Amino acid sequence: MNSHYFVIFNAIACCLIYSQQAYAKTAWDSPLHRQCLFTNQTTKFRLLRQQNDFDKRVRKVLIDPSNFSSRKSFDIQGNPLIKRPNLIVLHETVYGIQSVITTFKTYHPNDFDQGSYHVAIDENGNLFEFLPDHLRAFGAGNSSFNTESVQTSKNIPPSVNNFSLHVSLESPIDGEDADEAHSGYSEAQYDSLAILLSRWMKKYSIPFHRITTHKFIDRSGERLDPRSFDWSKLQERLAGIGALCR
Ligand SMILES: [Zn+2]
Repeated sequence: MNSHYFVIFNAIACCLIYSQQAYAKTAWDSPLHRQCLFTNQTTKFRLLRQQNDFDKRVRKVLIDPSNFSSRKSFDIQGNPLIKRPNLIVLHETVYGIQSVITTFKTYHPNDFDQGSYHVAIDENGNLFEFLPDHLRAFGAGNSSFNTESVQTSKNIPPSVNNFSLHVSLESPIDGEDADEAHSGYSEAQYDSLAILLSRWMKKYSIPFHRITTHKFIDRSGERLDPRSFDWSKLQERLAGIGALCR
């Protein structure tokens, strides 16, 4: 996405705010693809081993109730909404995991300061579960996946939050800035991410082409995350555990 795109996008947003029909953006073209054949036994057995003790590596963290809500049953027009998650959004934390925990544990009375993910994965591949799947994380205010977006509050723009699961990767030290790229994520992070995604995909019947990024769904033109994400590493791992052949 270049700066010229931002200018056009912002111009559209200012004049036709919250108008879903006017939001012209190309459809999500998933970097993942279907793959049933997988021959790297080392990767396969490593992931299968990790799958077995996955739950032991998940630490539940209680966060402040101002930073999340229930999934809503109706939008502001009274239309019924599907509460079952059917989209997965990838993020990065920018700052370290402790900074995220502190932010989510803090009471935020102002709507636009509130934020949360369901899960974050630190640089060692450890998982921090902030919210169970049935609750609504405030991961991407003012967002839309292709044309899908719902508005559940008069004062807050439409977003994908009501039907999404949000997972964030801890950024490397050199990512603690607003640059467009950094040194990327650890192998352990890609392993844990693949196992988590595989579980979500299976549990909620979410196809791989509905795993997207905050950058893609963002309507503010401000979000770039997750920067420096290597889709080929995710492809290899998801294929290794059979999640791309269902
Ligand atoms: Zn994000």
